[in-house]
Amino acid sequence: MKILIVEDEPSLREIMQRALVQERYVVETAATFTEADIKISGYSYDCILLDIMLPDGNGLKLLERLKELHKRENVIIISARDSIEDKVLGLEQGADDYLPKPFHTAELLARIRSVLRRGRSGGERALTLGNVSLEPDNGRVTVAGKELPLLKKEFDILLYFMQRPNHLVDKSVLAEAVWGDHADQADNFQFVYAQMKNLRHKLTEAGASLEIKAVYGFGYKLIPPVEEA
Ligand code: CA
Repeated sequence: MKILIVEDEPSLREIMQRALVQERYVVETAATFTEADIKISGYSYDCILLDIMLPDGNGLKLLERLKELHKRENVIIISARDSIEDKVLGLEQGADDYLPKPFHTAELLARIRSVLRRGRSGGERALTLGNVSLEPDNGRVTVAGKELPLLKKEFDILLYFMQRPNHLVDKSVLAEAVWGDHADQADNFQFVYAQMKNLRHKLTEAGASLEIKAVYGFGYKLIPPVEEA
């Protein structure tokens, strides 16, 4: 799960970043409207935490940008001004939630979990393909009802693919989605290959009915099990 923090105040940005990293989210940050605009244009996020008053623009405008870009990221507005207008305007323009400052990090984490849960396919708690079931909230994966222990990145990779069955995923796109900031510009993708190899091995060993296939020179694709008639 990848989260973008848009916040110009360094101390608050760092507090949020630390709390989210501790919860095993992949976190990117933007300190200005321009920086945030560049990030949302180039990348996708599971959730955006959006400050309204930014040094070079109004955070609410970013909601318009998301719409122009046909993006459907979850957005939680975090604002120092506990103003009804901001809240109404923000929610009208497509934000999913609104959290006035100051807030406790536990409250922020709860809001994020709730937004992510709602954002997922019909609010279902588990993703299931064939005999593989994945619960995004608690990091649990089972194959044919039996728990499959995965490392953090293996889990993130599997989640990414289970949300995109049959999609051919470029290795640099995968690197960026799972490892975050600038991983897509790495000199080589050995770290992706290594994690993928381990994950694929674990899935095969456990008898998973889905397969993440390597597409030579490009990336990977999740092949869901063939439905039996
Ligand atoms: Ca601000």
